[in-house]
Amino acid sequence: MNNASTPPESCRVAVIGAGLGGLATALRLQAGGFPTTVIEARDHPGGRAVNEVRDGLTFCAGPPGIADRAALEELWALTGNAVERDVTLHSAAPLCRYAWPDGATFDLHADEAATTREVARFAPADLAGFADYGAIAAAQLADFRSRPGPEPFADPREVAGFVPELARAQAWRSLWSVIAAHIKDDRLREVLAVPALIDGANPFTASALLAAGHARLRQGGLWWPQGGLAALAAALMKRFEALGGTMRLGDPVRRIHVLGNRIHEIETQSGWIRHFDAAASTADRDHVWRDLLSGTLRGETMAARTRSRQHGFGLFTVHFALEGTWPGIPHFMVLLGERFRALIEDISVHGVLPQDQMIWLTHPSLTDPTLAPPGKSIFQAQVPVANLRKLPIDWETVGPLLEGRVLDEVGRRLVPDIRDRLITRFHTTPRDAMLEFNAAQGTGFGLAPQPLWRKGAYHPRRDKTFGNLYFAGAAAAPGGGLPSALAASRACATLMLETLT
Ligand SMILES: Cc1cc2nc3c(=O)[nH]c(=O)nc-3n(C[C@H](O)[C@H](O)[C@H](O)COP(=O)(O)OP(=O)(O)OC[C@H]3O[C@@H](n4cnc5c(N)ncnc54)[C@H](O)[C@@H]3O)c2cc1C
Repeated sequence: MNNASTPPESCRVAVIGAGLGGLATALRLQAGGFPTTVIEARDHPGGRAVNEVRDGLTFCAGPPGIADRAALEELWALTGNAVERDVTLHSAAPLCRYAWPDGATFDLHADEAATTREVARFAPADLAGFADYGAIAAAQLADFRSRPGPEPFADPREVAGFVPELARAQAWRSLWSVIAAHIKDDRLREVLAVPALIDGANPFTASALLAAGHARLRQGGLWWPQGGLAALAAALMKRFEALGGTMRLGDPVRRIHVLGNRIHEIETQSGWIRHFDAAASTADRDHVWRDLLSGTLRGETMAARTRSRQHGFGLFTVHFALEGTWPGIPHFMVLLGERFRALIEDISVHGVLPQDQMIWLTHPSLTDPTLAPPGKSIFQAQVPVANLRKLPIDWETVGPLLEGRVLDEVGRRLVPDIRDRLITRFHTTPRDAMLEFNAAQGTGFGLAPQPLWRKGAYHPRRDKTFGNLYFAGAAAAPGGGLPSALAASRACATLMLETLT
């Protein structure tokens, strides 16, 4: 191992977690010649992107789609196939509708001319600034794509190789300050800041490097896999298995055994135990240090260090089905309120549960009629909320109250007779994320992205002590939205392919 002559086929690797990030990592490793085993706690793949079927209705948890179709095409190309062979990808149009309580709306489109017309209607004085910001975001994305996984940086030395790109992106400034420098209209500023929030970051403190998210969405579009993101995960798993990869579902890793400064064996809850030459974990890092490597000096030290870092916000999600169809409610909407900055600070900084909410509303049955019988509709309303450390409330009690508030708000803004049309509803809280996914502090997106000079900004893809332990997926990318999780998986697999042979 770690010897330049080791052939990949004699190096057995494990990937912990079968979310989209874990499956993407595993497929890359298996395609690179390493016999790879994925070990997943739950009895199905998909991780956070999971479906729940109730009374013939399919409810899809997770993001409103995938903004990085190219990442999927790249993965399928590694298997010698086209993604379209396994998954039908529907494009969502508009990409997103932003709506305010007074009825104002702004539609962001993949089509350049349509977006320009929308800016001209909504904030004509910002036409030039919007184009300038778009150019900055596009240049940043091109810089990122030219190298594998520059974000997040693994350590300060890695930054040295990116100085011109960082200077171009004005990485030392907050995302909001760069947006505000180009855009005068407050609401258009909100439009440009929301993608960072949906990537798990506070746009007022996170670096301007997050502008790339705007370009990714506009260039790549928003794609909904038929059957939901869980169907995409199932297709990815099938391709991985067809390459010879091994899946072990429904058997959580309980312990990673070490020998000196290497991880040596992985033991699961069922008592299964195997030697691996290396492992990539996509499980929450806190969980790895605190639970899987407890009793080791490194595990204890890192558990204490990770605990003291800034975690991102949590997500409260209401899934509901309605009688009737709403062709006027697009695939994805963001319902903004009267407050923006103060609301984000309440959630990210002060840890309060405000009266008002920002709602990310996904309407997948519009794009994918396979999810609900004719004449019925499926919705997912996500509300960013403070994580469990900032807001240690009893979600068992608060959950039903907040669910009612979210439904009332959707009713007020979009479906006045929502209460009469409800077929079913249920919700998930940060507490569920903690219990079901071992997510520290119940966050939806793991650690909060930090500016480069702050503690917690660097996230090694390979552990410093256990040199054969790697990190991939959202666990390796603070913020941990889906595009970042897939990019982090690519960077991790590239590093493993380089260092393990
Ligand atoms: C409600 C919600 C909404 C979201 N919205 C967006 C959005 O709008 N845009 C966006 O880009 N992203 C969004 N995300 C984030 C996105 O879903 C994740 O970034 C992405 O799915 C992460 O994939 P992953 O494979 O890296 O991690 P995960 O999907 O978290 O997978 C990790 C896996 O590890 C498993 N695991 C944990 N511990 C163990 C163990 N001990 N042994 C074995 N397995 C273990 C878990 O069961 C899980 O399956 C959202 C997430 C949620 C929950």
